[in-house]
Parts: sequence; structure tokens; C-alpha cells
Amino acid sequence: NKFALDGQVAVVTGAGQGIGRSIAHALGEAGAKVAVADLEFNRAETVAAELQAKGIQSLAIKVDVSKKQECEDMVQKVLSAFGDLHIGVNNAGIVFHSDSEDTSEQEWTRTMGVNLNGVFYCCQAEAKHMLKKGYGRIINTASMSATIVNHPQRQVAYNTSKAGVVHMTKTLGTEWCDRGVTVNCISPGYVDTELNRSELLLQVRTQWLNETPMKRLADVEDLVGGVLYLTSKLSNFTTGLDLIMDGGFTCW
Ligand code: NAD
Repeated sequence: NKFALDGQVAVVTGAGQGIGRSIAHALGEAGAKVAVADLEFNRAETVAAELQAKGIQSLAIKVDVSKKQECEDMVQKVLSAFGDLHIGVNNAGIVFHSDSEDTSEQEWTRTMGVNLNGVFYCCQAEAKHMLKKGYGRIINTASMSATIVNHPQRQVAYNTSKAGVVHMTKTLGTEWCDRGVTVNCISPGYVDTELNRSELLLQVRTQWLNETPMKRLADVEDLVGGVLYLTSKLSNFTTGLDLIMDGGFTCW
């Protein structure tokens, strides 16, 4: 099985629910030991327990990815528990909705802090170890919002942060790849998670369905194939890729 991850160690941020949780399960089922990292420690503990119940070695870690030191501590905890780190999935992200002229400084800086700075701090902390070992697979969660402007919901900070993640991925993906560390990102379209269940977003769901060629939202499970490709040896010559999985949304 060329997708097998036996003997490998992965860390997934924002893994307490939603997309990160399903990626944590998929990596564990493929054979990896998985550190489940989240700002909400109780969520991380719950997911780590789910993995352990399936016989997967797992560890819950509390992290606020917007803080560089906490990202470094997260990697140290993984190394202390499992002795190595091969896969980093930097997935934690948040969104606020507001007209751009009214977007507050707090909304802007927190979105950038988590979605952009957080991904960078995690990439740095993970790569420091991976570059020493000459092997690593880093996958960042961007969004189709990096490429298109979502409407009618307004999310200037989110869109800008995700565009930054895509270009950061290309930059790091070309800088580290000749030392064994690839960096790629996934860009989901609309996925049925808590992130999309605010009152505002429930109102625009019908519009999303109509605008998506597949006429449905993604289920979290729809994304794991792309992640397993990027973590496997089958993606050995792939770096800096933005793998869009959007049911065709960005084609229209
Ligand atoms: P979610 O809100 O269901 O889960 C996100 C998790 O991240 C939560 O458990 C939360 O506690 C955690 N988190 C938030 N801030 C954090 C921080 N500072 N440090 C560590 N953990 C933190 O969201 P989701 O839908 O699963 O989204 C996961 C990723 O996918 C995000 O980056 C999001 O932007 C991206 N994405 C989501 C969609 C979608 O439609 N749901 C589409 C494209 C991209």
C-alpha cells in the first residue's frame, strides 16, 4: 500500500473537530501516530481518545498557533512522546464576517494571527526538525477563498490570510524541497463543518449549493484522499501545490 504511513508521526492542528479531526483519523488509519493539537484542549482530548479506541497511538496537545513559542512547544511535545515528526498538517483556522470598511482591528489581527502567522510558525517549528532528518511532509489548509472572492458573505481578512497561505506554501515548498521537506496546501470549497453553521452562513447555503457544480457541500471525508496523497511517497515530486477540492466551484 503506497499510501501507508506505518512508523510515521504526524501532528494536526485544529484537529479537535471538523476537517482537522477527519484528517487525524485518516492519518492514524493509514498507520501514523497522531498528535491532535487544538486551542480547545477538551476537543483535542476527545479526538485523541477516539483514535486510541481504534488502536492508534495518539496524544492531545493544547496550542494557540498564533503564538510562536506555543508552536515550538507543540513540536517538542510530539518529539518527546513519539521521538520523531514526519508529517505536519497546519489546519487551524478561523473566520469573521463583516463589511470590509467596518472590519475591526481585532478581527483583522486575530484572523491573520491564527490563519497566516499560525501556519508560518507551525511550518517553521516542524521544518527545523524535518530538515535535520532530511524528510518531511507539510500540508497547510488554505481555502478556495484564496483564489475566489466569496459572496455574499464578507470575509476580507479570511480571504487575504488564505491567499497568503497559498503563496507561503509555494515559497517554503521551493525552499526546503531539495532537503527532503515538501510543503503543499489543500484548498477546500464549502465544507459542512461548524465553521459554516453561523446564522449568516446557514442563510446563504442554498446559494452555495446552486453555485457549486456538484450541487452539495463537501463532507469532511471528501478531503482526506488529497491529504493522503500529499503525505505519501506517491507525491514525492510535488511541492508548492495548491490542491483545490471544491466540487468544481472555482471552475465557474
Ligand atoms: P472548525 O471551526 O470546525 O474547526 C477548527 C478547529 O480549529 C477548532 O477545533 C478550533 O478550536 C481550532 N482552532 C481555532 N483557533 C485555533 C488556534 N488559535 N490554535 C489552535 N487551534 C485553533 O473549522 P473547519 O471547517 O474544520 O476548518 C478547518 C480549516 O479548514 C480552517 O483553516 C478553515 O479555514 C479551512 N477551511 C474550511 C472550509 C469550510 O468550508 N469549513 C473551507 C475552506 C477552508
